[in-house]
Amino acid sequence: MHDFTYHRPESLTQALDLISADRDAKLLAGGMSLLPSLKLRLSRYSDLVDLRAVSTLQGVRAEDGALVIGAMTRHAVVAASDVVKQAIPALAVLAGGIGDPLVRNRGTIGGSIANADPAADYPSSVLGLGATVVTTKREISGDTFFAGLFETALQAGEIVTAVRFPLPLCAGYSKLPHPASRFALAGVFVAKTKRGVRVAVTGAGPSVFRLSVAEQALQSDFSPSALDRIEVDADGLNSDIHASAEYRAHAIVVMAKRAVAAAISR
Ligand SMILES: Cc1cc2nc3c(=O)[nH]c(=O)nc-3n(C[C@H](O)[C@H](O)[C@H](O)COP(=O)(O)OP(=O)(O)OC[C@H]3O[C@@H](n4cnc5c(N)ncnc54)[C@H](O)[C@@H]3O)c2cc1C
Repeated sequence: MHDFTYHRPESLTQALDLISADRDAKLLAGGMSLLPSLKLRLSRYSDLVDLRAVSTLQGVRAEDGALVIGAMTRHAVVAASDVVKQAIPALAVLAGGIGDPLVRNRGTIGGSIANADPAADYPSSVLGLGATVVTTKREISGDTFFAGLFETALQAGEIVTAVRFPLPLCAGYSKLPHPASRFALAGVFVAKTKRGVRVAVTGAGPSVFRLSVAEQALQSDFSPSALDRIEVDADGLNSDIHASAEYRAHAIVVMAKRAVAAAISR
């Protein structure tokens, strides 16, 4: 690991000053993705700005027709939250299935979506629920937030402060986890909303994406059997030592059916 200067601001203003100053500074949240890359010398920064002491970034609250989760809220907190279980139970299930207890007790929702790992769970809920990412500069639609492999719409010096999830009529999440890391080989978030059905897939492509063929099938018949006849094209899906593109294409349909079954059961 290369040397760096560590900062622990207590307010968002201080954090913004530090990250915007003329340095090669990087935000630190749970450190679950950033620290391994520093340890392996895959990345190098002059300064790390730890957001853990910024209390305004913590917590979960119900708002008019929405659930708002602060960027520094850890996965374990979301998984155990009665507010989340009441508003969008599928989100608590998703958070409870991330990694292992260490990862869930350190990793944060803000760090997860800013990192935009193609196999991460939260991006599917942001896209699947049509959430809004709130930052220090603006509000970004979940539809445009994820820009590709480990890429987002975030600009330099922009800090995610919260994610606002509109409440669906019902929603479900199911993933085929990698047996060691629990990252998704294919994960599907399904939401039935007043404005239609949304289906988002993670783990199977270079970035999270919507599955229109499933959305159309579920629009008139929101049941697992409505997906019996759909086919997912393997072209463009990830193929690696863990699973071929064809295997992932098949897994997407299976996970989508399970996600619908979970949504209906609640
Ligand atoms: C063994 C292991 C297993 C895992 N399994 C899973 C899994 O099953 N599913 C899953 O989804 N994830 C999994 N993860 C990833 C985990 O969820 C991490 O928590 C997540 O990727 C990063 O969150 P973090 O809070 O640790 O962020 P960090 O590692 O601290 O930061 C990640 C990136 O986000 C940036 N960042 C952090 N916070 C903000 C902010 N508020 N605004 C703007 N940028 C910010 C940082 O600068 C950095 O670039 C796993 C990780 C490990 C190590």
